[in-house]
Amino acid sequence: MGRFDGRVALVTGAARGIGAASARQLAGEGAAVVITDLDLGPAEEVAQGVRAVGGRALALACDVSSREQVFAAVDRALAEFGQLDIMVSNAGITRDNMLFKMTDDDWDAVINTHLRGSFLAAQAAQKPMVGQRYGKIILMSSLSALGMRGQVNYSTAKAGLQGMARTLALELGQFNINVNAIAPGYIETRMTRDTATRMGLTWEQLAEQWVKLVPLRRMGQPEDIAKVVAFLASDDAGFITGETIYVSGGAR
Ligand code: NDP
Repeated sequence: MGRFDGRVALVTGAARGIGAASARQLAGEGAAVVITDLDLGPAEEVAQGVRAVGGRALALACDVSSREQVFAAVDRALAEFGQLDIMVSNAGITRDNMLFKMTDDDWDAVINTHLRGSFLAAQAAQKPMVGQRYGKIILMSSLSALGMRGQVNYSTAKAGLQGMARTLALELGQFNINVNAIAPGYIETRMTRDTATRMGLTWEQLAEQWVKLVPLRRMGQPEDIAKVVAFLASDDAGFITGETIYVSGGAR
């Protein structure tokens, strides 16, 4: 028996990194998973991996900043699996720059992906969840919500997601829907590897700098976050809502 037998989860930005690990974790514990990302090809590869070990998975292309695409993805999930119990709003990008160099495009792209994307994901998910009187919505915030040089767009968006989680918890609690945020610290994914490249460093050099900021003295792995996604998506966390859990090895 898995914790998610009979449950259906949709994960955005699930073709790689934290999203892919979360989809695998939920599927490994019994959920049927809808794996969405900008491009269908890489999402389908993750879905095939899930199916190869006996899980149920559907891959869909979905740009989270598009109302039509997000609502269509939820409709497809309902058509395929009949219900939607877990929404993990994970898709994300960075467009780092110091304030004086940041363009409107840098600002809009990050705000649209994280804030508008999570707003749309939550809005699309709440309808079936309210009907079911059951749902778990998880928003992916970040340690950067506490402030990070060169990330005014990203840290603003990630702090906003914490307010979103709190507000949606207030609105949706009466329908037995839990809404929480996770704030990961330094996690090894393509997003952070790209940061090293942008800074003119090798991954090892950047990781060495970051690890000094982490009390547990290691970089996080996507699976470290996926396990907390699964906890918050499970009934083990049934009385937790409106919270942000930092999963950062103790870094602040
Ligand atoms: P990755 O870059 O590895 O994965 C992010 C995924 O999101 C990619 O597959 C990307 O697609 C997809 N994506 C980007 N824009 C959109 C969009 N508009 N619609 C749908 N999908 C999209 O990043 P991580 O796994 O590291 O990050 C996952 C989440 O965790 C993000 O919200 C990030 O901000 C957050 N986070 C990450 C941390 C870290 O240290 N890695 C720390 C704190 C938070 P494509 O490949 O096509 O661009």
